[in-house]
Amino acid sequence: MLKYDGVLDKCEIICVGTELLIGSTLNTNANTIALALADNGLYCYWQTVVGDNVDRLSDQIRTSISRSDLVIFSGGLGPTEDDLTMETACMCCDREMVFDQESYDRMEKVFATSGRKFSKNNIKQAMLPKDSVVLPNDNGTAPGACFVTKVNENHSCVLAFLPGPPSELGIMLNKYLIPELKPYTLHSLRNEYVHIIGIGESKAETMISDLIKNQTNPSIAPYASEGECIFRVSQSVDEDSKGEDLITPIIDKMRMTFGDHIYEVGQRSLREVVLDMLVSKNLHCAFAESLTGGMISSGIVDISGASSVFEGGIVTYSNESKVNLLGVSPQTLSDYGAVSKECAKEMAIGVLKAMNADVAISVTGIAGPDGGSASKPVGTVYIGFASHDKCDSIEFHISGNRMRVRKVTALKAFDYLRMLLLRGHYYEEE
Ligand code: ATP
Ligand code: MG
Repeated sequence: MLKYDGVLDKCEIICVGTELLIGSTLNTNANTIALALADNGLYCYWQTVVGDNVDRLSDQIRTSISRSDLVIFSGGLGPTEDDLTMETACMCCDREMVFDQESYDRMEKVFATSGRKFSKNNIKQAMLPKDSVVLPNDNGTAPGACFVTKVNENHSCVLAFLPGPPSELGIMLNKYLIPELKPYTLHSLRNEYVHIIGIGESKAETMISDLIKNQTNPSIAPYASEGECIFRVSQSVDEDSKGEDLITPIIDKMRMTFGDHIYEVGQRSLREVVLDMLVSKNLHCAFAESLTGGMISSGIVDISGASSVFEGGIVTYSNESKVNLLGVSPQTLSDYGAVSKECAKEMAIGVLKAMNADVAISVTGIAGPDGGSASKPVGTVYIGFASHDKCDSIEFHISGNRMRVRKVTALKAFDYLRMLLLRGHYYEEE
């Protein structure tokens, strides 16, 4: 257990790696750590990126430990020469590195089971700061660690070391590091996440601007996300709230404003919400995809339990495949084109039959950058729906590059299906 004499008020993040500085790797770890800090009432004051360089890293460490109560590092725990985060920090804190037998045995086991050769270099990863709390690595070899250093008579700082690979960092952070820090957090928070779709972030913020302005506890903060908008409603439990639930009344007000545009209060993604709706209604679904090339099918298969509702999907990119595999009529294609409401409807009917499903969704559109016209510019997308007794389709205009158009189309397709399952039609105003 970590023993810290005080509360962790000021926190900061140092991400180590030249690849981050030159932009060849996107710094997603800073994002992951910052979100975890915010979720747990730890206030992040600074984020820094430093290259794999001992001098510059030690300068930064000295600055950081003197101004912060908690410094979280990401990267540089590996076995190679340029992995020097822990050594440099120990040098700055006058702390020895010692061999940790338990970590060594664990690593040897991981190597043996994965059939890899255990090299001398890997022994370096079992050298950890003396008197530190070891943070196990469930997804890799290098263990993490955290320890407290006394900076001066009045100030001590916790240093925590996490590995660079995001899949290793995420689990170590949330499973092992946060529980060590929790007893020393100043602000105890309760968070709820309100997921909104079909309204842009800035419009959504404007719609509840009074609520946001007048609110101190709980606080409401938007998180931008592609094609949707998430608000975090955060209650500080240790202020004057006396254990009272201050979040529910705020969420009720948000429900009044956003209505069906709120698809989830909690942690589920849109795909999970749709999957749960299909399960509860005992409906089987199928997808016919053109511009998304399988993203919608893949999106549902990402979720465990998909087999109970997903029959299958067909990717039909060419006109011929739309005719041959989905039974779209050549007449429809010549009269209206493949990117049309009519084609979307016929695609949905075709895949419904082919897969013997209860509900089907289809998408056809122009992802760009080429292929647009004055009447159907890039980003024009039609989404079709079919069930045994109903068939419909809707037109969308999605801005952005090819990838964004395709991703947002997949999201809209799930939302269209959600609304048809929920209300039998898309939003009132559209
Ligand atoms: P390894 O044992 O793999 O060497 P490490 O702890 O030494 O792990 P680094 O060598 O710094 O970590 O980084 C390993 C890889 O992890 C990088 O090549 C990069 O792909 C990824 N990575 C590192 N830092 C970050 C970051 N801040 N955000 C996202 N990815 C990162
Ligand atoms: Mg490395």
